[in-house]
Amino acid sequence: MTTKPFHVAIVGGGITGLALAISLHRRGVSFTIYEQAAAFGEIGAGVGMHANAVRAMKICDEGLLAGFERVATRNAWPSKSAVWFDVLDGTSTEPANVPEKLAPLFTLIGHTDGHAACHRARFLEEMVPLLPEGSARFGKRLKTIEGNNDDSDRALTLVFEDGTTAQADAVLGCDGIKSRTRAVLVGDDHPERAKPAYSHKFVYRGLIPMADAVAALGEERSANAMLWMGPERHALTFPVNHGQTLNLVAFVTTPEPWPSKDAQQLTLPATRNDALRDFEGFGPNVLGLLRQTAPQMERWALFDLAEHPLPQFYKGRVCLVGDAAHASTPHHGAGAGMCIEDVAYLSELMGTVNDKRELPAAFAAFDASRRGRDQWLVASSRRAAELYEWQARGRDFEGIADEVRARQAYIWNIDLDVGIAAAKKDLRRRLALGMPAAAEPDASVPFPPDIDYHLRENS
Ligand SMILES: Cc1cc2nc3c(=O)[nH]c(=O)nc-3n(C[C@H](O)[C@H](O)[C@H](O)COP(=O)(O)OP(=O)(O)OC[C@H]3O[C@@H](n4cnc5c(N)ncnc54)[C@H](O)[C@@H]3O)c2cc1C
Repeated sequence: MTTKPFHVAIVGGGITGLALAISLHRRGVSFTIYEQAAAFGEIGAGVGMHANAVRAMKICDEGLLAGFERVATRNAWPSKSAVWFDVLDGTSTEPANVPEKLAPLFTLIGHTDGHAACHRARFLEEMVPLLPEGSARFGKRLKTIEGNNDDSDRALTLVFEDGTTAQADAVLGCDGIKSRTRAVLVGDDHPERAKPAYSHKFVYRGLIPMADAVAALGEERSANAMLWMGPERHALTFPVNHGQTLNLVAFVTTPEPWPSKDAQQLTLPATRNDALRDFEGFGPNVLGLLRQTAPQMERWALFDLAEHPLPQFYKGRVCLVGDAAHASTPHHGAGAGMCIEDVAYLSELMGTVNDKRELPAAFAAFDASRRGRDQWLVASSRRAAELYEWQARGRDFEGIADEVRARQAYIWNIDLDVGIAAAKKDLRRRLALGMPAAAEPDASVPFPPDIDYHLRENS
């Protein structure tokens, strides 16, 4: 494959940065990844990938999809293969290991692909070998970017905290929720947009050996994905590690502020007893699982960009991708999935560009095609938690089921091929016009979305 006549810097080597690197490599775009840590690494346990995320991986790179499939775990029972979550009453005192006594309130059918989840670290281990040798620099914490304010096509300069610098024709900020790239782009004019806000929810996360989980919940509820609803709290359980481990994510709503205001510290130490106290009022199923977790745990704050959505994901030759652009709470199980969708769009757009002066137009087409969907997810995710925790519609389970289904359908069933083809057409139009000419930004977050996304015919 011919290599494009430009070189880009990818700031951040999380799921977004690595997927983008792999996808750009396949399209002949040369890059260097700058990661602040000493090595690639993922914190946290399981991550679920929705059906469109899996389709997006295929567009990015067959190897990426194959790597995910090697580590992905789906519902164990064939009868549950299309199920995203069975939704149960977490406060019920009926035993989950006698399924007929505790029937689901409703079931969320996740298209034909159901629920695919993996351990984050295992997915990362699959991605790293797909990168070309020597394409990453570690211990490089971005401080600022110079040269993006003039119209010249001189290389941009990345300045790192260790005093070193690097040059690139464009910078792709994949540096996550606390993105420094975002702060560099919007910080001076709109400092409030640079910082994520606390959603007044935090989570306890635990991994439970499957045998212990089966002892607590019985086989059906352990081998398949469950969502346990309740007032002001809810919990998710789903198998990872090819069914050897149950991933537990237990969400708590609180009026208290998070002790670390600016999201610099997203995790704080906690104990299993804290979790048990926070879930008082829940039934023996969820409490039984919490008792199986390690005595020392962590609380993870859920911050997002819902309160100050960015008016644009790019400026000049710097573009934000993934959580850096649209960090979301995880209530749709789709934050990372949207990052992979971003990567599919952006790499397809950049792969059609043959001159570095055309990169801003590619970023403009990316922004126009992705921002509405990405920011809708951020807002809708907050709403989803209110539904699960009986704040938005009380215990109207039929209404909750209808609304969650409508929202999930929009997440799962978009036709990515149609969306990418439209984005490429938009890019050609912009290039024919002579430049990005970004429309006046609109930060509103519509639902139902008013963007011309096409639902798949079989949705
Ligand atoms: C509790 C929880 C559960 C979730 N569950 C799901 C789920 O089931 N499904 C789903 O789709 N999504 C889920 N998400 C969302 C998902 O985790 C994120 O959307 C995704 O991990 C974001 O990836 P990223 O690569 O954009 O950012 P990150 O993973 O944050 O990666 C950013 C990288 O950039 C590096 N970096 C940061 N700053 C700098 C700097 N200045 N210079 C250089 N490098 C830097 C970091 O070290 C890191 O490696 C969940 C999120 C949470 C909090």
